[in-house]
Amino acid sequence: VAFKPLSASAVRRLAGICAPERVVTDPALLVDYGHDESSEPACLPEALVKVLSAEEAAAVVCLAREERVPLTPRGLGTGLAGGSIPTQGGILVSTELMDQVLEVDAGNLMVRTQPGVRTVHLQAACAEHGLYYPVDPASLDDCSIGGNVATNAGGARAYKYGVTGDYVRGIEAVLADGSIIRYGGKLHKNVTGYDLNKLLVGSEGTLGIITEITFKLVPKPRHQIDVLVPFDRLAQGVELCLRVIRDSRLMPAVVEFIERGGIAACNRVLGTCLPFADAAVQVLIELEGNDRQQVLADCVLLGETAMELGAREPLVADNATDQERLWTARRSLAKTLKQVYPQVTAEDVVVPLSELPATVELVAGLQQKYGIPIVPFGHIGDGNIHVDICRTITDDGKWQRVRSAVINELVDFVLARGGQITAEHGVGSAKRHLMKRALGPAELKVMRNLKQALDPEGILNPGKVLPDD
Ligand SMILES: Cc1cc2nc3c(=O)[nH]c(=O)nc-3n(C[C@H](O)[C@H](O)[C@H](O)COP(=O)(O)OP(=O)(O)OC[C@H]3O[C@@H](n4cnc5c(N)ncnc54)[C@H](O)[C@@H]3O)c2cc1C
Repeated sequence: VAFKPLSASAVRRLAGICAPERVVTDPALLVDYGHDESSEPACLPEALVKVLSAEEAAAVVCLAREERVPLTPRGLGTGLAGGSIPTQGGILVSTELMDQVLEVDAGNLMVRTQPGVRTVHLQAACAEHGLYYPVDPASLDDCSIGGNVATNAGGARAYKYGVTGDYVRGIEAVLADGSIIRYGGKLHKNVTGYDLNKLLVGSEGTLGIITEITFKLVPKPRHQIDVLVPFDRLAQGVELCLRVIRDSRLMPAVVEFIERGGIAACNRVLGTCLPFADAAVQVLIELEGNDRQQVLADCVLLGETAMELGAREPLVADNATDQERLWTARRSLAKTLKQVYPQVTAEDVVVPLSELPATVELVAGLQQKYGIPIVPFGHIGDGNIHVDICRTITDDGKWQRVRSAVINELVDFVLARGGQITAEHGVGSAKRHLMKRALGPAELKVMRNLKQALDPEGILNPGKVLPDD
């Protein structure tokens, strides 16, 4: 698609649609909007527009169409796939000022929210009414709930509670033709026609701008106990995760792991926040329920299983202070790796559970083979392993070659084992070149047809998700 540069008259019209102070064109003020948290190259928009409503967003979309300029939706820019980087310039539509939780409807177990609300604030608003929005990406303090919907974000509790899309019950969105659709609502079930919620969930800003979401909520169990289990061998930690998952007597909310490289980065940046600094791996399991005695009994069972596998004495965190300490470390993991290394490429593979031992072993082997830190961690209970490839090579050309070689081996391996290239971070611009390996021509054709039907001029977030022909 041939786009045009954004003209001065178009900028004036944008200022007429939104207030002039919400239209930014000064490159110095756009620097923070030219990147996300991935290692994708930065690229500035020609204009940033901070919309306040679906109607404003729709008017901006109509203008972009008329002017033939691309348009990239943006939440709070914590993405790890380059999705909100305006790689072709044009207009960046930020939802950051649409930051109101509109209604917590305790009677219907629903919350209605604008997209720019931080996930942590949405959770807090629901908690005030004794309700739980359980999806908890590690970035929850910094990311927007609209961004979570657009990437179908997961998190540690996805093991028990599922991902963002599992809670979406209604969506309002602006499509590429400027129309505003409202699908679903405060309904726990709804199969009226094609599921437009599902279509927009995970669409990474390529099919519409999400302007309001209705989520279902759940009650929160009264008691939580976190158990951190250290092992001297990586394989033992993986085995514990598998046993816990397959043991019907245990119903954990969280099954996470942190390998040695991640433990070291956390402790280096945050001080010794994680005990057992010399462990090869630490497994973090959260047990929960309404009956405290039952949760304690589960804890004993977990401890016995861990000791059978050769664990060291686990750390049990059963009060808010200890739990916060553990979770601060876990949530900061990706950030601390970025502080230790000048560049980190975050891979996000997912495999069937039975392939976890081999996948973790592969990553350890890649680290040996290429002689760079490659840190696996994350949501192992879902089969989702974050593989952070950390730059220690100064020469640019060599680093690019080594990085590509690692990614290629990892991707070939997981695809051969029935896995996929991303479980929660999305494709964005970072993984677009892998899509022809990840999906067949028939599946890609369906996706291209959907994109063509909804956005024939290709103005919404071009250069993302779908590969070039
Ligand atoms: C330290 C760290 C930890 C993280 N941990 C997790 C984790 O545990 N789980 C997880 O899933 N992710 C995680 N992420 C990735 C990231 O936080 C999520 O992808 C998050 O959902 C992005 O939200 P955002 O508001 O920052 O969106 P952005 O980065 O601004 O945008 C992400 C994508 O969504 C689109 N988008 C944003 N808002 C809208 C909208 N209103 N309408 C349409 N499209 C929109 C953008 O175009 C882009 O394609 C982590 C990131 C960091 C830096």
